[in-house]
Amino acid sequence: MEGLVVSRVVLRVQDLRVHYHTPRGPVRAVEGVGFELRAGERLGLVGESGSGKSTTAMALMQLIRPPGRIEGGRVELDKLELLSLAKEEMRSVRFSRISLIPQGVMNSLNPVMRVGAQIADTIEAHEERPDREALQKRVRSLLALVELDPATARMYPHELSGGMKQRVGMAIAVALRPQVIIADEPTSALDVVVQKRVMDTLFRVQQELDAAVILVGHDMGLMAQCVDRIGVMYAGRLAELGPVQSLLEEPLHPYTRMLVESLPSLERKGVFRGIPGLPPSLLEPPPGCPFHPRCPQVMDRCSDRVPELEEVAAERRAACHLHAEGFDKLSRGIL
Ligand code: SF4
Repeated sequence: MEGLVVSRVVLRVQDLRVHYHTPRGPVRAVEGVGFELRAGERLGLVGESGSGKSTTAMALMQLIRPPGRIEGGRVELDKLELLSLAKEEMRSVRFSRISLIPQGVMNSLNPVMRVGAQIADTIEAHEERPDREALQKRVRSLLALVELDPATARMYPHELSGGMKQRVGMAIAVALRPQVIIADEPTSALDVVVQKRVMDTLFRVQQELDAAVILVGHDMGLMAQCVDRIGVMYAGRLAELGPVQSLLEEPLHPYTRMLVESLPSLERKGVFRGIPGLPPSLLEPPPGCPFHPRCPQVMDRCSDRVPELEEVAAERRAACHLHAEGFDKLSRGIL
């Protein structure tokens, strides 16, 4: 995406908030998340476990289950505000316009149903009485699209490898040609070689459908190879958002910088750099910037005021008070 013409926004998320209501109080899993997804773009949402990235994905699909609740915000899919849709209306949008490859999709297939029937089910749930023969043909071509032998349609999930099951999940997610595909940790249970092949297939399918993709994951290294822009999440908020190359070369937020520095490299062979401390409790988040208890650049104001995600440079946004001190100093590493 770096240096490319900015294209049309297909999905606009504003001030999204999701809380889980527990006897001890609300767990603020997503707190004021906002971003845009552009036509044909691959946007990565990356963060540690519990950072809110998967909850954000589920909220976009309106698949948050009690005790979770979407507390507020807007999710506009090509001018259609999803959060105000009735359940029935959202059901017709789900899969046909915005679709999800859920985390652990390989375990969510029905074990006693043939793969082809599971794909056909998704189509039948959205289209009235599709012609049987045409439906079978569509199932076979969807399997071919995700690089599976069309004969796979007659197999049961237990007869498939992990990578094949992941591809079936992908076929279900794209069966109705959605504009937006959300892939939540789509390859986390696969070995590295299979991971690469499944990702290649996902992006080829994306191009064929002319869709935009939100890739959710915890692996910054994998993300860096796959997406155009990255949104770094921390404690339910976006800490930083920007094009992948400049974000990796010149991280603005101290957390992003530490994440990037923790990536393995040939120069630092054998040296493992983690991020000291633990993510905060979302039940009782620290006041001010949620990263302040771990931040090596913490200042007085950091424990008082929550930093907003603000435009710091072209295409670059960060939620960090350091920018009030001067972006130039920060980028030159003086701060
Ligand atoms: Fe660190 Fe303060 Fe920036 Fe938070 S706002 S990341 S504590 S410098």
